[in-house]
Amino acid sequence: MDANIFENYAKAGKILKDIFAALLVKPGDKIVDIADTIENEIVRKGAMPAFPANISINEIAAHYTPIPDDEITIKDGDLVKIDLGAHIDGYIADAAVTFCSNKNDMVVAVQNAVNAAVKLMKPGNKVSQISEAIESEIEAKGFRAVNNLTGHSLDKFTFHGPVPIPNVRNSMNYEFKVDDVFAIEPFATNGSGIVKDSGRTYIFSYLKDHNTRLPESRQVLNLAKKDFSSLPFCERWIKGITPIKFDLAVKQLVAAGAIQPHPVLREAGRGLVAQAEHTVIVRDKPVVTTA
Ligand code: MN
Ligand code: MN
Repeated sequence: MDANIFENYAKAGKILKDIFAALLVKPGDKIVDIADTIENEIVRKGAMPAFPANISINEIAAHYTPIPDDEITIKDGDLVKIDLGAHIDGYIADAAVTFCSNKNDMVVAVQNAVNAAVKLMKPGNKVSQISEAIESEIEAKGFRAVNNLTGHSLDKFTFHGPVPIPNVRNSMNYEFKVDDVFAIEPFATNGSGIVKDSGRTYIFSYLKDHNTRLPESRQVLNLAKKDFSSLPFCERWIKGITPIKFDLAVKQLVAAGAIQPHPVLREAGRGLVAQAEHTVIVRDKPVVTTA
């Protein structure tokens, strides 16, 4: 890996680390204020958001981002998963922390799992070893690992490369190589262990060009491709469009296959969900960019 590329990964990671270290999440806080503040801070520190701040509460596992006039506030005891992405020139850091106003064992379980997993991100180790470490740490606290959410490789402007890292035991024998970049993201639950599409979508990403007469669709697609570099985006990032026009535009673009919807994922058994995530560069001494 080029020294310059390594620096970009490291700097993006440090930005997320510093943001999480300074972040206060208190009962009564509006999640739209948290998201806006974090995203502005990513830019102020010299990176770009790699996706909208995901703030997913309790049985919502992932992919919730606040709408512009979002009324949701943090309640006492909520499991608040904040999942952030930052990139510099396309080199991405992806990290998540679960905040809870009470001491919560599920949060400890995912922290233990991610910490055990990143230590194993060495050349020659296999995906199955990482998954084993994750699932056993989660089980040790009496919870279930979520089956259908996985860690993933990272590449320039790319999230989900060809190699997933499941959170449950498997026989995947992909061997890590020096300078592979992966996000490791254990999810634990006291529910069914499966997440499903909740039917609502607030995050989208560019797929392909599409000719449309609706000016709002053209505007959204143009921003999605150019300003957001085909990375995920949300309504808060698009100024000057009414909510009704935004909904119309994204419906049309999704139907045309021009943008990808990333629906909100909910625990299928309505269990609570906790998540932890770090980005790591594979080395004999693994480099955890976000820790
Ligand atoms: Mn993430
Ligand atoms: Mn991720």
